[in-house]
Amino acid sequence: MAYGDNDRSRDRRPPRQQREMFDAVCADCGAACKVPFKPSANGKPVYCKDCYKKYAPEKKRDNRRSLF
Ligand SMILES: [Zn+2]
Repeated sequence: MAYGDNDRSRDRRPPRQQREMFDAVCADCGAACKVPFKPSANGKPVYCKDCYKKYAPEKKRDNRRSLF
């Protein structure tokens, strides 16, 4: 019998980690919104979803569809 049973622990990553959301105010329309990063931590203006789309029409990073 082979002794080397590859008992590698399964790749168990959490399905979808809930990101912490930060309260922010849209720099364009002034609406309150939530962003997955700390507002102005990176010096970038924060936009609500609608405005964000205008400014970042296509972002490949987050592949989730729009929620509405
Ligand atoms: Zn806005």
